[in-house]
Amino acid sequence: MRERVQLKAPAKINLTLKVVGKRTDGYHELETVMQQIDLCDEITIITANEGIEVSSNNSEVPSDASNLAFKAALLIGEKLGLNNGFRIYIDKKIPIGAGLAGGSTNAAAVLLGINEMLGGLLDLGTLLDLGLQVGSDVPFCILGGTALARGRGEILEPLPSGLHLEVVLVKPPQQLETAEVYRDLKLYELHDQPNNRAFLEAWHKCDIIGLAAQMKNDLETVSITKCPEIVVIKERLVSLGALHTLMSGSGPSVIGIFSDREGAEKAWQTIKGEYQESFLSSSYSR
Ligand code: ATP
Repeated sequence: MRERVQLKAPAKINLTLKVVGKRTDGYHELETVMQQIDLCDEITIITANEGIEVSSNNSEVPSDASNLAFKAALLIGEKLGLNNGFRIYIDKKIPIGAGLAGGSTNAAAVLLGINEMLGGLLDLGTLLDLGLQVGSDVPFCILGGTALARGRGEILEPLPSGLHLEVVLVKPPQQLETAEVYRDLKLYELHDQPNNRAFLEAWHKCDIIGLAAQMKNDLETVSITKCPEIVVIKERLVSLGALHTLMSGSGPSVIGIFSDREGAEKAWQTIKGEYQESFLSSSYSR
Protein backbone atom coordinates (compact mmCIF):
# COMPACT_ATOMS: atom_id res chain seq x y z
CA MET A 1 0.00 0.00 0.00
CA ARG A 2 1.25 3.49 -0.88
CA GLU A 3 1.88 5.49 2.28
CA ARG A 4 0.77 8.92 1.14
CA VAL A 5 -1.44 10.54 -1.49
CA GLN A 6 -2.40 14.12 -2.09
CA LEU A 7 -5.35 15.08 -4.26
CA LYS A 8 -7.59 17.96 -5.19
CA ALA A 9 -11.21 18.03 -4.10
CA PRO A 10 -13.11 20.42 -6.44
CA ALA A 11 -16.26 22.26 -5.39
CA LYS A 12 -19.52 21.69 -7.27
CA ILE A 13 -22.06 24.18 -8.47
CA ASN A 14 -25.57 23.42 -9.72
CA LEU A 15 -26.33 24.87 -13.15
CA THR A 16 -29.97 23.81 -12.78
CA LEU A 17 -31.77 22.38 -9.76
CA LYS A 18 -35.29 21.05 -10.16
CA VAL A 19 -37.11 19.51 -7.21
CA VAL A 20 -39.39 16.88 -8.70
CA GLY A 21 -41.09 15.70 -5.50
CA LYS A 22 -40.70 14.37 -1.99
CA ARG A 23 -39.93 10.69 -1.51
CA THR A 24 -41.24 8.35 1.14
CA ASP A 25 -37.69 7.99 2.55
CA GLY A 26 -37.63 11.72 3.38
CA TYR A 27 -35.26 12.73 0.57
CA HIS A 28 -36.35 14.94 -2.29
CA GLU A 29 -36.38 13.63 -5.83
CA LEU A 30 -34.13 15.92 -7.88
CA GLU A 31 -33.15 16.58 -11.45
CA THR A 32 -30.05 18.75 -11.43
CA VAL A 33 -27.09 19.56 -13.65
CA MET A 34 -23.96 19.55 -11.54
CA GLN A 35 -20.63 21.03 -12.55
CA GLN A 36 -17.24 20.87 -10.88
CA ILE A 37 -15.29 24.11 -10.68
CA ASP A 38 -11.61 24.70 -10.11
CA LEU A 39 -12.07 25.98 -6.56
CA CYS A 40 -10.50 23.06 -4.70
CA ASP A 41 -9.63 21.81 -1.24
CA GLU A 42 -6.38 19.86 -1.06
CA ILE A 43 -6.58 16.50 0.70
CA THR A 44 -3.56 14.62 2.05
CA ILE A 45 -3.96 11.04 3.25
CA ILE A 46 -1.21 9.23 5.13
CA THR A 47 -1.40 5.66 6.42
CA ALA A 48 -1.29 5.24 10.20
CA ASN A 49 -1.09 2.20 12.47
CA GLU A 50 -4.70 2.46 13.54
CA GLY A 51 -7.72 4.78 13.80
CA ILE A 52 -8.75 7.77 11.73
CA GLU A 53 -7.60 11.30 12.42
CA VAL A 54 -8.82 14.36 10.57
CA SER A 55 -7.26 17.81 10.81
CA SER A 56 -7.61 21.00 8.82
CA ASN A 57 -6.28 24.55 8.47
CA ASN A 58 -9.89 25.69 9.15
CA SER A 59 -11.12 25.25 12.73
CA GLU A 60 -14.75 25.08 11.53
CA VAL A 61 -14.06 21.73 9.85
CA PRO A 62 -15.08 18.98 12.31
CA SER A 63 -12.34 16.54 13.25
CA ASP A 64 -14.66 13.83 14.60
CA ALA A 65 -16.84 11.19 12.93
CA SER A 66 -19.26 13.91 11.75
CA ASN A 67 -16.68 14.88 9.13
CA LEU A 68 -17.72 13.32 5.83
CA ALA A 69 -14.07 12.59 5.03
CA PHE A 70 -13.81 10.65 8.31
CA LYS A 71 -16.99 8.69 7.44
CA ALA A 72 -15.62 7.86 4.00
CA ALA A 73 -12.33 6.56 5.41
CA LEU A 74 -14.17 4.44 7.96
CA LEU A 75 -16.47 2.98 5.34
CA ILE A 76 -13.80 2.03 2.81
CA GLY A 77 -11.62 0.60 5.61
CA GLU A 78 -14.52 -1.61 6.74
CA LYS A 79 -15.39 -2.62 3.20
CA LEU A 80 -11.85 -3.83 2.57
CA GLY A 81 -11.19 -5.14 6.07
CA LEU A 82 -8.12 -2.93 6.38
CA ASN A 83 -6.29 -3.20 9.68
CA ASN A 84 -4.38 0.05 9.36
CA GLY A 85 -5.66 3.59 9.94
CA PHE A 86 -5.37 6.94 8.13
CA ARG A 87 -4.39 10.51 8.93
CA ILE A 88 -6.30 12.96 6.74
CA TYR A 89 -5.39 16.62 6.36
CA ILE A 90 -7.90 18.98 4.71
CA ASP A 91 -6.51 22.22 3.34
CA LYS A 92 -9.87 24.04 3.18
CA LYS A 93 -10.41 26.62 0.45
CA ILE A 94 -14.09 25.91 -0.32
CA PRO A 95 -16.44 28.03 1.84
CA ILE A 96 -18.33 25.94 4.41
CA GLY A 97 -22.13 25.63 4.48
CA ALA A 98 -22.28 27.33 1.14
CA GLY A 99 -24.06 24.93 -1.24
CA LEU A 100 -20.76 23.93 -2.83
CA ALA A 101 -20.58 20.33 -1.55
CA GLY A 102 -17.43 21.01 0.46
CA GLY A 103 -17.84 18.04 2.79
CA SER A 104 -19.02 15.73 0.00
CA THR A 105 -16.04 16.49 -2.23
CA ASN A 106 -13.69 15.81 0.70
CA ALA A 107 -15.37 12.41 1.19
CA ALA A 108 -15.08 11.65 -2.53
CA ALA A 109 -11.38 12.54 -2.48
CA VAL A 110 -10.81 10.22 0.49
CA LEU A 111 -12.52 7.30 -1.28
CA LEU A 112 -10.57 7.96 -4.49
CA GLY A 113 -7.33 8.58 -2.60
CA ILE A 114 -7.45 5.44 -0.44
CA ASN A 115 -8.41 3.39 -3.49
CA GLU A 116 -5.41 4.87 -5.30
CA MET A 117 -3.16 3.93 -2.33
CA LEU A 118 -4.42 0.38 -2.79
CA GLY A 119 -3.60 0.34 -6.50
CA GLY A 120 -7.20 0.80 -7.66
CA LEU A 121 -8.63 -2.27 -5.92
CA LEU A 122 -12.25 -1.09 -6.08
CA ASP A 123 -14.10 -0.38 -9.32
CA LEU A 124 -15.98 2.84 -9.99
CA GLY A 125 -19.40 1.29 -9.25
CA THR A 126 -18.30 0.20 -5.77
CA LEU A 127 -16.81 3.61 -5.04
CA LEU A 128 -20.06 5.29 -6.13
CA ASP A 129 -22.06 2.94 -3.83
CA LEU A 130 -19.80 3.75 -0.89
CA GLY A 131 -20.06 7.45 -1.73
CA LEU A 132 -23.87 7.38 -1.64
CA GLN A 133 -23.71 5.86 1.86
CA VAL A 134 -21.80 8.98 2.95
CA GLY A 135 -24.02 11.57 1.23
CA SER A 136 -26.20 12.35 -1.79
CA ASP A 137 -23.65 14.61 -3.51
CA VAL A 138 -20.68 12.26 -3.01
CA PRO A 139 -21.27 10.06 -6.11
CA PHE A 140 -21.18 13.14 -8.37
CA CYS A 141 -18.01 14.37 -6.66
CA ILE A 142 -16.43 10.96 -7.40
CA LEU A 143 -17.50 11.03 -11.05
CA GLY A 144 -16.56 14.69 -11.56
CA GLY A 145 -16.88 16.95 -14.60
CA THR A 146 -20.46 17.76 -15.57
CA ALA A 147 -23.44 15.46 -15.06
CA LEU A 148 -27.20 15.37 -14.96
CA ALA A 149 -28.16 13.85 -11.62
CA ARG A 150 -31.50 12.29 -10.77
CA GLY A 151 -32.97 10.45 -7.79
CA ARG A 152 -31.41 11.94 -4.66
CA GLY A 153 -28.33 12.64 -6.78
CA GLU A 154 -27.07 9.12 -7.38
CA ILE A 155 -28.47 8.43 -10.87
CA LEU A 156 -25.77 10.12 -12.88
CA GLU A 157 -25.60 10.82 -16.58
CA PRO A 158 -22.18 12.27 -17.43
CA LEU A 159 -22.32 15.11 -19.93
CA PRO A 160 -19.62 15.83 -22.50
CA SER A 161 -17.44 18.74 -21.42
CA GLY A 162 -19.12 21.58 -23.26
CA LEU A 163 -18.59 25.26 -22.75
CA HIS A 164 -15.73 26.39 -20.57
CA LEU A 165 -17.68 28.44 -18.05
CA GLU A 166 -16.14 31.54 -16.53
CA VAL A 167 -17.57 32.05 -13.09
CA VAL A 168 -17.43 34.59 -10.29
CA LEU A 169 -18.59 32.97 -7.07
CA VAL A 170 -19.63 34.99 -4.06
CA LYS A 171 -20.48 33.58 -0.64
CA PRO A 172 -22.28 35.98 1.70
CA PRO A 173 -21.06 35.82 5.33
CA GLN A 174 -24.08 33.73 6.39
CA GLN A 175 -24.15 29.92 6.19
CA LEU A 176 -27.24 27.89 5.36
CA GLU A 177 -28.07 24.35 6.40
CA THR A 178 -29.13 22.19 3.47
CA ALA A 179 -31.62 20.15 5.54
CA GLU A 180 -33.33 23.30 6.79
CA VAL A 181 -33.76 24.73 3.28
CA TYR A 182 -35.36 21.49 2.04
CA ARG A 183 -37.55 21.34 5.14
CA ASP A 184 -38.98 24.81 4.41
CA LEU A 185 -39.51 24.18 0.71
CA LYS A 186 -43.20 24.06 -0.26
CA LEU A 187 -43.58 22.00 -3.41
CA TYR A 188 -46.95 23.53 -4.23
CA GLU A 189 -45.34 26.98 -4.34
CA LEU A 190 -42.85 26.01 -7.05
CA HIS A 191 -43.45 27.63 -10.41
CA ASP A 192 -41.34 28.36 -13.49
CA GLN A 193 -39.24 25.30 -12.72
CA PRO A 194 -36.01 24.51 -14.60
CA ASN A 195 -36.42 22.93 -18.02
CA ASN A 196 -33.51 20.49 -18.09
CA ARG A 197 -34.28 19.35 -21.63
CA ALA A 198 -33.89 22.93 -22.92
CA PHE A 199 -30.76 23.32 -20.81
CA LEU A 200 -29.21 20.17 -22.30
CA GLU A 201 -30.04 21.28 -25.85
CA ALA A 202 -28.19 24.55 -25.24
CA TRP A 203 -25.35 22.62 -23.55
CA HIS A 204 -24.88 20.34 -26.55
CA LYS A 205 -24.93 23.35 -28.92
CA CYS A 206 -22.44 25.23 -26.70
CA ASP A 207 -24.95 28.09 -26.75
CA ILE A 208 -23.97 30.24 -23.76
CA ILE A 209 -26.95 32.61 -24.08
CA GLY A 210 -29.46 29.74 -24.34
CA LEU A 211 -27.74 28.02 -21.46
CA ALA A 212 -27.82 31.08 -19.22
CA ALA A 213 -31.55 31.49 -19.87
CA GLN A 214 -32.18 27.95 -18.57
CA MET A 215 -30.14 28.21 -15.37
CA LYS A 216 -32.70 28.04 -12.56
CA ASN A 217 -32.74 26.72 -9.02
CA ASP A 218 -35.97 25.75 -7.24
CA LEU A 219 -34.39 26.32 -3.82
CA GLU A 220 -33.55 29.96 -4.45
CA THR A 221 -36.80 31.43 -3.09
CA VAL A 222 -36.55 29.54 0.22
CA SER A 223 -32.87 30.44 0.68
CA ILE A 224 -33.50 34.11 -0.16
CA THR A 225 -36.05 34.29 2.66
CA LYS A 226 -33.33 33.09 5.05
CA CYS A 227 -30.53 35.12 3.47
CA PRO A 228 -31.78 38.23 1.58
CA GLU A 229 -28.16 39.14 0.76
CA ILE A 230 -28.42 36.60 -2.08
CA VAL A 231 -30.57 39.07 -4.06
CA VAL A 232 -28.14 41.93 -3.41
CA ILE A 233 -25.24 39.81 -4.71
CA LYS A 234 -27.21 38.70 -7.77
CA GLU A 235 -28.01 42.30 -8.68
CA ARG A 236 -24.42 43.36 -8.06
CA LEU A 237 -23.03 40.62 -10.31
CA VAL A 238 -25.43 41.63 -13.11
CA SER A 239 -24.34 45.26 -12.75
CA LEU A 240 -20.75 44.02 -13.12
CA GLY A 241 -21.56 42.31 -16.42
CA ALA A 242 -22.71 38.77 -15.55
CA LEU A 243 -24.78 37.12 -18.29
CA HIS A 244 -26.77 35.35 -15.61
CA THR A 245 -26.68 34.67 -11.89
CA LEU A 246 -27.80 31.66 -9.92
CA MET A 247 -27.64 30.36 -6.39
CA SER A 248 -25.73 27.09 -6.06
CA GLY A 249 -27.36 24.11 -4.31
CA SER A 250 -29.17 25.19 -1.17
CA GLY A 251 -27.03 28.35 -1.08
CA PRO A 252 -26.19 30.88 -0.08
CA SER A 253 -23.34 30.98 -2.63
CA VAL A 254 -24.19 32.89 -5.78
CA ILE A 255 -22.52 32.32 -9.12
CA GLY A 256 -22.27 34.85 -11.92
CA ILE A 257 -21.67 33.44 -15.40
CA PHE A 258 -19.53 35.55 -17.71
CA SER A 259 -18.96 35.27 -21.44
CA ASP A 260 -15.18 35.58 -21.15
CA ARG A 261 -12.38 35.41 -18.61
CA GLU A 262 -11.52 39.10 -18.94
CA GLY A 263 -15.05 40.18 -17.97
CA ALA A 264 -15.13 37.71 -15.07
CA GLU A 265 -11.77 38.89 -13.79
CA LYS A 266 -12.79 42.55 -13.94
CA ALA A 267 -16.00 41.84 -12.00
CA TRP A 268 -14.11 39.75 -9.44
CA GLN A 269 -11.53 42.53 -8.90
CA THR A 270 -14.41 44.81 -7.86
CA ILE A 271 -16.61 42.42 -5.89
CA LYS A 272 -13.79 40.90 -3.84
CA GLY A 273 -13.46 44.31 -2.16
CA GLU A 274 -17.12 44.04 -1.14
CA TYR A 275 -17.40 40.36 -0.17
CA GLN A 276 -14.48 38.64 1.51
CA GLU A 277 -15.37 35.22 0.13
CA SER A 278 -15.33 35.98 -3.60
CA PHE A 279 -13.67 33.67 -6.08
CA LEU A 280 -12.74 33.76 -9.75
CA SER A 281 -13.26 30.27 -11.07
CA SER A 282 -14.07 28.21 -14.12
CA SER A 283 -15.49 24.81 -14.97
CA TYR A 284 -13.31 21.80 -14.20
CA SER A 285 -13.36 18.80 -16.52
CA ARG A 286 -12.64 15.20 -15.65
P1 ATP B 1 -23.92 20.65 0.36
O1 ATP B 1 -23.89 21.63 -0.76
O2 ATP B 1 -23.42 19.29 0.00
O3 ATP B 1 -25.22 20.60 1.08
P2 ATP B 1 -22.48 22.56 1.81
O4 ATP B 1 -21.43 22.99 0.85
O5 ATP B 1 -23.67 23.46 1.95
O6 ATP B 1 -22.90 21.11 1.45
P3 ATP B 1 -20.47 21.83 3.69
O7 ATP B 1 -19.38 22.79 3.36
O8 ATP B 1 -20.29 20.43 3.25
O9 ATP B 1 -21.88 22.38 3.21
O10 ATP B 1 -20.66 21.92 5.28
C1 ATP B 1 -21.88 21.68 5.93
C2 ATP B 1 -21.57 21.17 7.34
O11 ATP B 1 -21.00 19.87 7.20
C3 ATP B 1 -20.55 22.00 8.09
O12 ATP B 1 -21.15 22.90 8.92
C4 ATP B 1 -19.73 20.95 8.85
O13 ATP B 1 -20.12 20.89 10.19
C5 ATP B 1 -20.06 19.62 8.22
N1 ATP B 1 -18.89 18.94 7.58
C6 ATP B 1 -18.66 17.62 7.65
N2 ATP B 1 -17.56 17.29 6.97
C7 ATP B 1 -17.06 18.42 6.46
C8 ATP B 1 -15.91 18.71 5.65
N3 ATP B 1 -15.07 17.74 5.26
N4 ATP B 1 -15.72 19.98 5.28
C9 ATP B 1 -16.59 20.96 5.67
N5 ATP B 1 -17.66 20.75 6.45
C10 ATP B 1 -17.91 19.49 6.84
